[in-house]
Amino acid sequence: MKIEVLTLFPELVEQVVRYGIPRRAVEAGLLALSSRDIRDYSERGDRRVDDRPYGGGPGMVMEPEPLARALAAARLAVGPARTIAMSPQGEPLSQAWVRRLAQEPALIVLCGRYEGADERVAGGIDLELSLGDFVLSGGEIAAMALVDAVSRWLPGALGHDQSAQCDSFAAGLLDHPHYTRPEHWRGRRVPEVLLSGDHRRIARWRMKQALGATWLKRPDLLEGLVLNDEQVELLREFIAEAAIANGEVEHEQHHPTA
Ligand code: SAH
Repeated sequence: MKIEVLTLFPELVEQVVRYGIPRRAVEAGLLALSSRDIRDYSERGDRRVDDRPYGGGPGMVMEPEPLARALAAARLAVGPARTIAMSPQGEPLSQAWVRRLAQEPALIVLCGRYEGADERVAGGIDLELSLGDFVLSGGEIAAMALVDAVSRWLPGALGHDQSAQCDSFAAGLLDHPHYTRPEHWRGRRVPEVLLSGDHRRIARWRMKQALGATWLKRPDLLEGLVLNDEQVELLREFIAEAAIANGEVEHEQHHPTA
């Protein structure tokens, strides 16, 4: 897949493919990231691409012409592509969007700066995506997050032992907890089931913990899911066990030891 990022800070964006899975995706030929400096399309000698807002007020606005020219050049370079603007006003970036976008042959990603782009550029954009309900000073970090997340879903980008299918959100649930050596650490043990070698029991425990983590931390995710009979049973068990554990905690709190 090709991703071309339009930005005032190409060196910043390119950092995302210098590490980890995005780097491996590039090395394996699964991902080609290019960045295009919007200043190269400035109409002015000083390479500026911002100007004061009509109507007054603070901040500067990205001029439409350099952006339109950069977009046209990007389309020529990567061919048919979905054009995305990173924006706090966009749809929240979700795993569903990441998986959908990973299927595309090419993406063009526009990073805003200042107060954002002149509104008339919006006509050339297919989709606005947001990293969340907060305001960044530029779209680069959001674009890098998108590139990183999408690269995990390119077939072959993750090793055998790391499957994106097991991560949080893949099945609509949060991930189960993970443990590594040592078996005893500062008075805390690894759950016995993980040492049992019984793969069925381990799978059952992990599903129960994934359901439980989702129930505790993100109950909103459970509302959108249809659980099968075994999952319903596992979640019941988790809730019952959590209630017992909580009961003990409250009991202790009612009888504090001096
Ligand atoms: N005045 C704009 C914010 C501009 S911030 C507004 O309030 O809507 C400058 C640029 O940072 C934006 O054009 C966008 O590209 C990027 N940006 C800021 N917050 C973002 C977010 N939550 N998600 C994605 N991009 C964001």
